Amino acid sequence: MNLSEIYYPRSIQELIAIMARQKNLQIVAGATSFGYIQDTRYLFFEPSIASIRNIPELKTIHKTERMISFGAACALNDLESVYPFEKKPAREVLRATANSTVRNIATIGGHLMYQKRFLALWPLLACLDAELEFKGPSGTSIKNIWYLTNEEGLPSLESRRVLTRIRIPLQSIDRLFIRRTGAEIFPNGDGAYLVVASTIERNSISYFRLVIAGQRAFRDYDAEQRITSSPYPLTERVFHSVLKMYSESLHRTKFWNMELFLPLISQALEDLQRSSVL
Ligand SMILES: Cc1cc2nc3c(=O)[nH]c(=O)nc-3n(C[C@H](O)[C@H](O)[C@H](O)COP(=O)(O)OP(=O)(O)OC[C@H]3O[C@@H](n4cnc5c(N)ncnc54)[C@H](O)[C@@H]3O)c2cc1C
Repeated sequence: MNLSEIYYPRSIQELIAIMARQKNLQIVAGATSFGYIQDTRYLFFEPSIASIRNIPELKTIHKTERMISFGAACALNDLESVYPFEKKPAREVLRATANSTVRNIATIGGHLMYQKRFLALWPLLACLDAELEFKGPSGTSIKNIWYLTNEEGLPSLESRRVLTRIRIPLQSIDRLFIRRTGAEIFPNGDGAYLVVASTIERNSISYFRLVIAGQRAFRDYDAEQRITSSPYPLTERVFHSVLKMYSESLHRTKFWNMELFLPLISQALEDLQRSSVL
């Protein structure tokens, strides 16, 4: 039997020093998905494991006028009363994720770095333009959350980097449309979330994002641009041209079943026409 060496760093600096020394270091946060990411029936452990739960910097939440920033080791339950989860539709997705006991242990970093698929909070954070801060022996990098996908719409995670913070611009999102489809989200079902975030300012749509994520992640930047700055309420022409763009991009990518998602996108646009501010 192989024995692994387990490290419990107390600071990010200490963690990075361990990463520099140990080439195949397995990072573990809440360890709630550990058994599910194994490829074989038998548990396999890297020779070196670092538990990041005891790093205080990774458990803080900062808020400025423009941003909220979560440490990657914040437990999912720690996020319940902060933006964006203080908004009802976002809180409902958070509360539908596992159960309270798991959410006390599972971290937001582990949720985003699950390598098999995109978990429940991913599309919401993608709609809010979340930025991820990574650190490693070669330095710090900050990337949009979309950077975690490849051109096939599948998760694409960098090795030898630790996710340290998740930053979300504090903007007034006044409409959130969220629908769940399929069965299981975790560990590897066909479940997915469609999330639409939008803001209306002075009779025009100033912000619009639509993300579908589950086994793959989908977004159509051109359709988002077409709708952003359009007059509000949407004209029939814009409504139909945006729907056509989504129909074409869903057809082109083949990531998601068009017959299921096109009516939902149409519903999201109709909802935008009539719903009241959050
Ligand atoms: C019973 C149960 C039910 C669940 N139900 C749902 C559900 O309904 N919907 C849903 O979306 N999810 C569900 N989950 C999944 C849950 O959200 C994830 O297991 C959890 O968020 C992972 O967080 P963790 O801290 O435990 O990560 P870990 O299991 O510790 O790590 C997960 C992966 O991320 C890597 N990692 C962790 N932190 C970092 C970091 N900071 N930087 C780089 N890599 C990192 C690890 O190396 C590992 O590969 C469920 C889980 C369980 C156990």
